[in-house]
Amino acid sequence: MSVSDKSLQDRAMAFEVLAKTHGFEVCGFAPLPVELRREYYLRWIADGKHGSMEWMERNESRRLYPETILLNARTIIMLGMNYYQELPERRGRLARYAQGKDYHTFIYKRLKQLCSWLREQGGEQKPYVDTGPLLEKPLAVCAGLGWQAKNTVLLNTHFGPWLFLGSILTTLEFPSSPAVKDHCGRCMRCVEACPTGAITAPYELDARRCIAYLTIEHEGAIPEMFRTQIGDRLFGCDECLDVCPWNRRAQATRELKLAAQPFGDVAALLAWEEEDFQRAFAGTPVKRLGLQRWKRNACVVLGNIGTADDVPALERCIEKEDTLIVEHAIWAKMQIFKRLGGG
Ligand code: SF4
Ligand code: SF4
Repeated sequence: MSVSDKSLQDRAMAFEVLAKTHGFEVCGFAPLPVELRREYYLRWIADGKHGSMEWMERNESRRLYPETILLNARTIIMLGMNYYQELPERRGRLARYAQGKDYHTFIYKRLKQLCSWLREQGGEQKPYVDTGPLLEKPLAVCAGLGWQAKNTVLLNTHFGPWLFLGSILTTLEFPSSPAVKDHCGRCMRCVEACPTGAITAPYELDARRCIAYLTIEHEGAIPEMFRTQIGDRLFGCDECLDVCPWNRRAQATRELKLAAQPFGDVAALLAWEEEDFQRAFAGTPVKRLGLQRWKRNACVVLGNIGTADDVPALERCIEKEDTLIVEHAIWAKMQIFKRLGGG
């Protein structure tokens, strides 16, 4: 090993130790430029599989060539934070990542702290958490954090699919992290388990069919053909992650900010006013959904799991709410009546 290789290794080790103290269990480095699956991204967008997530179409050249984002960028550092936790017992599920505080906020602050250290080493940096023009999952693959699995999620051999990703572009040089090979093998569990057939083939996701998209990103009415498959999911879906055999080593997150927040019963929240919603979800990922879509989703959930006791809450919605919620509340009431044998 040359002296300069040794100093790069030392820099990488020092950074990894620092990253761990900031809660990032995994960390890897990809020298720029990187080899990304550019054709996959372009085809996915051209086929419209991103649905109404128009921001994914923007900044195409920056997404595909991240080295163009920061002048003289030499490395992209990818960091992962474990967010796995057991779900609390309640009617209506939130995806695991949405149980506690919004990870964007606190991860970004920590990335900034890591950037301060990199600046002391002479680097210029740009940090991102999910909101920048980066293809985080393919970049995480390039940085050796895992492989992009058949459900298109990043899979890590220690933490399974439960990693928040953060990225730092830096002008500093780091040694390349070793690649991790694809360990999906012949397994098809995620493809078979997806309730809506959103994993249309191994490694192919049609976001327009995905419950995470339908309950979070999609505005307007949820297509009826998907409503029953949504089951009791109020916000997001973990089905293709839960069934993955790489969960066997999953361990509870150490991050206290991710502790599940209480929000009461799904029928009661149909009577919420804006202040109730803000009180329950300020500073959490659910906040960006807004009260109207939250109630829309709650109606779908009650349509799937509700009982006769929930009908008055739906009727109140039918009398008082806007047309979007009324339409979902009527659907939910009909579903309950069908289950009771009256529809
Ligand atoms: S998140 Fe749910 S709906 Fe989306 S691909 Fe995975 S299992 Fe299917
Ligand atoms: S369930 Fe199987 S195919 Fe799907 S991501 Fe996990 S290992 Fe890969």
